[in-house]
Amino acid sequence: MNLIKRIRAKTRQKWSYGYNDIRSVLGMNEKRFHHSQGTRIVIYHGLCRDDHTRFNSIFLRVKTFEDHLKFYKKHFNIISLEDYYLRRFNNDRFTICITFDDGFANNYKYVLPLMNEYGIPVTFFITGIRDAGYDILWNDFLCLAQKYGPGKFRFLDEEFYKDGHEVYISKTYNRSLKELSRGDGFDKKAGIMKLFEPLLSRENKMQEEDYWLQMTEEQIKDLSASPFATIGCHGYYHNDLSRIPVNDAGNEMIRSKQYLENITQKEINSIAFPYGAYSREVIVEAKSAGFNKLLATDFLFPEDYADPMLQERFAVNPYISVNNQMLATINGKYQ
Ligand SMILES: [Zn+2]
Repeated sequence: MNLIKRIRAKTRQKWSYGYNDIRSVLGMNEKRFHHSQGTRIVIYHGLCRDDHTRFNSIFLRVKTFEDHLKFYKKHFNIISLEDYYLRRFNNDRFTICITFDDGFANNYKYVLPLMNEYGIPVTFFITGIRDAGYDILWNDFLCLAQKYGPGKFRFLDEEFYKDGHEVYISKTYNRSLKELSRGDGFDKKAGIMKLFEPLLSRENKMQEEDYWLQMTEEQIKDLSASPFATIGCHGYYHNDLSRIPVNDAGNEMIRSKQYLENITQKEINSIAFPYGAYSREVIVEAKSAGFNKLLATDFLFPEDYADPMLQERFAVNPYISVNNQMLATINGKYQ
């Protein structure tokens, strides 16, 4: 898209979002909200007190999330993942199924009390990263490293520098470390995290733990004990399962399933693929590992539509108002 077209599209989007907000204030969207039909599985990641777009676009303020819950309660049916798959709901209203990915400690801290207070079912997709001995996922580590780490560093024979947008770029491949690492298993990521240990101050990290700290096993156990919670897998290391060798992907899924079943003492039969990434082979591996609920983001292959075990999800947008989020959730797309 050229610059003029981009500016036009942005302006149109701004107007349209503003227009929807005015309509909502005047109560003109009420009918639409209350009488829509359809279903949507929504993806959240983390909650924080404020400054939610400080590191990336996967966080919402606690207050905003609570506003979403109030809205859902007023206008939608809210169902568990199990009920979604069994089609166990009334079609009189729009139906929503809430999921949280990545297993952040902030889910335990903020979502668990709200979920219990509002009596709303939520599914949490959690990795095995604590079992691997880490308290942070690679992608969150990279966000912290890019903000607080040095201007350049060398890992093995590869040199990286930070560009003007605080993104590490590989000098060898002239591509971002974030993008390059999507194709890697965990060894290289673990190596870079070790290299950075003395470079990232603990105070910096701890002050901002809502943005990265993973739930402990004790917290996962407590969370799972809530009658409103369902626990599902999200890979073992949070690797892109479509890009690592398929045997490794299969092993990661089996290990993470066993890990979570040990903690919760419940059968875990759902998996959300990290980054929404999968291949036909990954689907086969997931099913043979015992998963019968496979969660993607967008479908990647035409045959996916015919597979009842595989379902799409819709990610929330942290930059728009509650009203606009709800209209987008009903429509299944952003403007
Ligand atoms: Zn994830």
